[in-house]
Amino acid sequence: MTQSKESIEARVDRLHADGVIDMHFDLPMDLYEKRTQPNILVTEFLPEFEAGGMAVIGAAIYIEDRYLPERGAQVALDQISRLYTEAEQSKRCVVCRTHQEISRALDSHKVGFLVTMEGVEPLGDDLDLLRTFYEAGVREIGLTHARTNAAGHGGIFAASGSSPKGLTQFGRDLVRECERLGIIIDLAHINPAGFKEIVDLTTKPLIVSHTNARKFYDVERNISDEQIKVIGQRRGVIGINSVLVGPRQEDATLDRYVDHIEYVANLIGIDCVGIGFDFFEFIYRQWPEEKKRWLAEKLTTPHFIPDLTNHSHAQNLTCKLIERGFSDDDIVKILRGNWLRVLEELL
Ligand SMILES: [Zn+2]
Repeated sequence: MTQSKESIEARVDRLHADGVIDMHFDLPMDLYEKRTQPNILVTEFLPEFEAGGMAVIGAAIYIEDRYLPERGAQVALDQISRLYTEAEQSKRCVVCRTHQEISRALDSHKVGFLVTMEGVEPLGDDLDLLRTFYEAGVREIGLTHARTNAAGHGGIFAASGSSPKGLTQFGRDLVRECERLGIIIDLAHINPAGFKEIVDLTTKPLIVSHTNARKFYDVERNISDEQIKVIGQRRGVIGINSVLVGPRQEDATLDRYVDHIEYVANLIGIDCVGIGFDFFEFIYRQWPEEKKRWLAEKLTTPHFIPDLTNHSHAQNLTCKLIERGFSDDDIVKILRGNWLRVLEELL
């Protein structure tokens, strides 16, 4: 069959056949909060993963303020524990710690989880705990969320105003130890000064698991052209976030999501852009109004792309990429190839 006669549907299926990689998903937090209920992964998430053809998902440990500081390490370890237990029970998902384990998951058409950490609050200021979390499977760490912690400062949801300071001594030690152990360093959320310092301290490819271009919305949570170029020089990957956080719901569209992909690809090449969906709507909708107001005041009001709010919508993105004229080779790079390249290189 020639390409021109292939239906869009068949083309999407073919492009999805070897799976999609999303480098950021707040799964462990939800599994932990629902730990008294059995099989949450199978009942609430697996159908969406399978519908979207997910192959690898970065499962991010995140600790809410109410557990900090005393229970940070405990809740993080509990979140990891829930992930292993639920993955095992599902028989369809598996936690991966090496590139070989990722390859095996892909070959067996299981969904592989890569355990990641968004903000090092679980470590407190104890570098020895990094080894503990490494042994527990953590393979990618972003030093901060929007908060300040013992390692550094997060970028805020405004054009300027986060701390002008870079990392703390603990943060610098942590970055060096991550590179030594083989933990991928994720530059999502870190403030501009911390970003620069991490670049200077490291030599391996760096990633930004989930972010957007400041070109479209100029806040420190997003990354500048200069930062995008640094990731390109290091042959890293930037995952595009589906929570576009702009001021207007009308701007949260699939086309705008593809604009971010295109913009990054034009600056640093198609080999350095991937997916970091950061699907969050399922958590947000469970929140009471009071907590939504708190988020709006503290950070931002998130705007979700209506046809890209969970993993079952992944094909909508692929359709849009086809519509926007991306080649099959480029789509495969965005959907999984680029992430696979760095995972192979770093794990
Ligand atoms: Zn995030």
